[in-house]
Amino acid sequence: MTQTLPATIPASLFEQRADAIVEAARELSDLGWTPATSSNFSMRVDDAHAAITVSGKHKGRLGRDDIMLIDLAGNAVGTDARPSAETALHTQIYRRWPAMQAVLHTHSRTQSVASRLYAGEGVIRLQGWELQKAISGYHSHDSVLEIPVFPNTQHMPELVARVDAWLEAGKPLHAYLIDGHGIYTWGRDMAETRRHLEALEFLLACELDLKRLRAS
Ligand SMILES: [Zn+2]
Repeated sequence: MTQTLPATIPASLFEQRADAIVEAARELSDLGWTPATSSNFSMRVDDAHAAITVSGKHKGRLGRDDIMLIDLAGNAVGTDARPSAETALHTQIYRRWPAMQAVLHTHSRTQSVASRLYAGEGVIRLQGWELQKAISGYHSHDSVLEIPVFPNTQHMPELVARVDAWLEAGKPLHAYLIDGHGIYTWGRDMAETRRHLEALEFLLACELDLKRLRAS
């Protein structure tokens, strides 16, 4: 893939973002959270562009060439490559929150099972877990951390509208699940986004264990 950059974006900046995405993708793939070419990852490049994984590659074996530039409407910039099918969900976050720098979307088994189990309620309410404090803005295990579960669809504008509706209702949003599909989370840099993803994976696994133990 050849990536031509606009004059305003230094090659070193794009490469730094691409390398950070490749590294995160490899580590998340090693954890088994990106099976069968699923999942997609992005980082903001500037106020009008982001770097994102191309569609359909194994996430444990990405190179710099598998990361492409898009504008915040989701169009490819300076390349013929095709961005991830779910690009609109990434650009929505960058458009809404200028401070957000990274978006991670994975399909772990825990995320997938939890999304199905709570799809009927449309939300997972986390409370009483110390690790909720890993989510930016949460300072106590007593707080309630709500993770919405949206119905899955191949039509991205529907999901974009559900995210908008949740936010327009004035509810905090740090992550969401899609039914039978996976999780989206984001942060002010890659480290914060990774922390959010790891904490949420752990919290969802704890909730599933509790459900199982209480039922037995
Ligand atoms: Zn997905």
